[in-house]
Amino acid sequence: MKKIIVITTGGTIAMKYDMETNGLIPAVSGEDLVEAVPALKAIAKVEVVEFSNVPSGYITPKSMFELGKIVDQYAQKKEVDGIVITHGTDTLEETAYMLDLTVQTQKPVCVTGAMRGSSQTSPDGPGNILAAVKTAASDEAYDQGVLVVLNDEIHAALEVTKTHATSTKTFDSPSWGPIGRVYFDKVVIKRHSLHLQKIQSDKIVDDVHLIKVVAGMDEFFFHCLIEKKAKGIVVESFGCGNVPPAVKNGIEMARENNIPVVLVTRVHAGRVVTAYSYLGSASSMEESNIILAGEITGQKARIKLMVVLGITNDIEKIRTYFDTH
Ligand code: ASP
Repeated sequence: MKKIIVITTGGTIAMKYDMETNGLIPAVSGEDLVEAVPALKAIAKVEVVEFSNVPSGYITPKSMFELGKIVDQYAQKKEVDGIVITHGTDTLEETAYMLDLTVQTQKPVCVTGAMRGSSQTSPDGPGNILAAVKTAASDEAYDQGVLVVLNDEIHAALEVTKTHATSTKTFDSPSWGPIGRVYFDKVVIKRHSLHLQKIQSDKIVDDVHLIKVVAGMDEFFFHCLIEKKAKGIVVESFGCGNVPPAVKNGIEMARENNIPVVLVTRVHAGRVVTAYSYLGSASSMEESNIILAGEITGQKARIKLMVVLGITNDIEKIRTYFDTH
C-alpha cells in the first residue's frame, strides 16, 4: 500500500460553525480531518503533518515557499509515495503554483480544500481529501507538476483558478480545462500540462505588487511603488495586453527606475500578445523592456516574479523564465 503524507494548513476544510461569532472559524485538527474520511484506509497509509491551521488569507508567499521545502523533505523519504496539502481555497492557487515552481520532487503533490466547513450540511472536504489522496497515490500523477484536486476534477497548478466565491464547483482551468478526473474506482489523467517549470532558489523576494488596470486609470499606483522602491510590478492589462496611456507612462517610469514590470491579462482566459501597435498596447511598451507573461494570471505572475527575483535582478534573465511558450 502506498504512503501519502497529508500536510494541513487550515482553510474552510478545517473550520466549524461558531455560535458566539456566528461564522466559521478554524477548529478541526489535521488528525480530525483525516479521521472524517474512513475510506482513506483502503487507499493508502496516511500520515498527517500539521503545518498551520489558518484561513488561507493569512498564508504569505514566504510561508508558501517554506511549505515547499517541507514538501521536498518528505518527498525525499523513500517510503513516501505522494503528498497531499489541505488549504483554504482563497489563496490555494497561489500556494499550488508556488509549489509547482519550487518543489523539486517528481512524486505526486496534490493540493485540496473545501468550500463548506466540516459542520455544514454536505461538507465537501472529506470527498475532496479522498480524491486528493487517491490522485497522490496513483501512478498517473507522477511527474505531472503540482495538481489541484477538488470536486473530483484534477487541474494543473499552472492553469487552475478559483472561479466562484461560494460554489463547490469553483476550481477551473479556463483556457484548457481539467487534466483528469477522479472516479469511484480509478484516477484518469487525459493530458499533461506542458511548460511546467522547476526553479531552484534559496529565497524569494517580497515587495512585488500586482496592479489591476481599469478604465481611465492614472499613474498614481506607479508613483507610490517607485517611491517605496518596490522590487517588481505585475500589471493586469486589458484584453491581450493593452493599458490606458497614463498607465503606459507609469510602466515606463517604473522601468526607468529599474523595477521589473511583467504584463498579464485581466481576462480570465487567453494570453498577452503583440497584436496592436497603438500607444498603450503591449508592443508599444516593448522598448522599455517589459516582460510579457503569456497565459498566467496576475496572482501567479506575482508569485513567479518573487521566485525569479530570488535568483536574479537581470531583466533579460528574468524574461527567460517567463518566455515559456
Ligand atoms: N476563507 C477560506 C480560506 O481560504 C475559504 C476556503 O477555504 O474555502 O481559508
